[in-house]
Amino acid sequence: MSERAVLALGGNLGDRKETIKSAIKAIKELEGVTVVSKSPLYESYAATEEGPDQSAPRYLNGVIEIETTLKPGTLLTEVRKIETAHGRVRLERWGSRTLDIDIITYGSMIKDGKRLTLPHPRAYQRAFVVVPWAAMDPSAKLLGHGSVAELAESLKTQVWEI
Ligand code: ADP
Ligand code: MG
Repeated sequence: MSERAVLALGGNLGDRKETIKSAIKAIKELEGVTVVSKSPLYESYAATEEGPDQSAPRYLNGVIEIETTLKPGTLLTEVRKIETAHGRVRLERWGSRTLDIDIITYGSMIKDGKRLTLPHPRAYQRAFVVVPWAAMDPSAKLLGHGSVAELAESLKTQVWEI
């Protein structure tokens, strides 16, 4: 059994483009994962609990679609290893980082667990997720929120394609 999943990648420290490229390569090399498509990359201000922080280094973000036989919990474990391998240090939530990889959707799974919430609870309001996602897949739907392209349309001024 395999499922389609959407992963969001981003970072605001170091060589951001190189980190994302290298992380996608590492995801490709995972046993039981194929990368189906990749979005363009977009830049945005750092998101914090209080809103955009223009004084923090800017983020570079993109999304990919994968096909995988890994269960979602295993997929999370594997992507967290890739974050660590790319120098991510967990200091604070919302803090600057070399690499963040979030699971946005996993098939049509709905889950609210300790480690994993699916779909990702903040994906629908994040320009840096829905704008690249809509560019990659104009017909995509986000469970509970409808058309990704429509979500992207209302948030698109918050990101810049690079
Ligand atoms: P951020 O919210 O900035 O992505 P982290 O990457 O440090 O912060 O993740 C915080 C926690 O979010 C992780 O411990 C992880 O277990 C949890 N989490 C819950 N749902 C998801 C998801 N869909 N994708 C990735 N991480 C998730
Ligand atoms: Mg994360």
